[in-house]
Amino acid sequence: MTKELEGKVGLVTGGTSGIGRDASVLFAKAGAKVVVAGRREVEGKETVDQIRAAGGEGLFVKADVSKAADVQALVQKTVEKFGRLDVAFNNAGIEGAWIAITEQSEEDWDRTIDINLKGVWLCLKHEIRQMLKQGGGGAIVNMASVAGWIGSAGAATYCASKHGVIGLTKSAALETARNGIRINVVCPAVIETPMAERIFGAPEMNKYALGLHPIGRFGTPMEVAEAVVWMCSERASFMTGQSLVVDGGFLAGPNSPS
Ligand code: NAD
Repeated sequence: MTKELEGKVGLVTGGTSGIGRDASVLFAKAGAKVVVAGRREVEGKETVDQIRAAGGEGLFVKADVSKAADVQALVQKTVEKFGRLDVAFNNAGIEGAWIAITEQSEEDWDRTIDINLKGVWLCLKHEIRQMLKQGGGGAIVNMASVAGWIGSAGAATYCASKHGVIGLTKSAALETARNGIRINVVCPAVIETPMAERIFGAPEMNKYALGLHPIGRFGTPMEVAEAVVWMCSERASFMTGQSLVVDGGFLAGPNSPS
């Protein structure tokens, strides 16, 4: 069977852990050369080791997605190393402080929006420019969340950032559709990663969060990575401007008490 991303060059932000790490490895298994971007060098190189162990080719580039110069350099280094850019997963994000609006600091609002929303915008800007320079064609997946669809008391900034990513995705997709560049967004519920451990690690929170998932468990990073690779592949050739919710039934409706 042909590998879905054979011959493609991919870029994954926040590839130093969690969903971004598994997506980087799955991009490679699907045949892509992968640039792994993140702020942490040791963890980034570990992801590249995993890519090599899977028989792929990867490069770590240190970059903070909230900084325009870093993102521009990231795309430049991708092209210098592998010659082009075909697929990208704008995944990097933080949870910020989960706290009432009345208690939240302006610094935390700015930092969360800078990374989760402005970071995706900066990535889109430079990735699309490169894809257009190549004559068009390509696929981009942004990371939102079920928190991009519904609100959550105590997580207003995170929800606002993820709602923003969905709007940004739709608009970017409209701007690039005629150039053959497809742009979609993935919206997971709780996925077992270091971030989820930070938010839902305490036993009471864990029990509460589990009850929101009709399927009876949290998701794995690889289950999200599978959806992302599919959206980046030609198998999803008629899909653009859309959200793919990967949530074990979270958004389908209230769970029954069992
Ligand atoms: P994680 O904390 O394991 O991974 C996030 C990655 O992004 C880390 O490697 C981190 O270093 C990187 N990162 C953070 N800020 C960055 C910056 N400014 N520049 C570059 N890299 C940066 O968490 P995760 O769960 O894998 O999260 C990945 C994405 O998935 C996030 O956008 C998150 O909001 C989203 N998400 C997670 C869940 C979940 O339950 N885990 C659910 C829905 C959406």
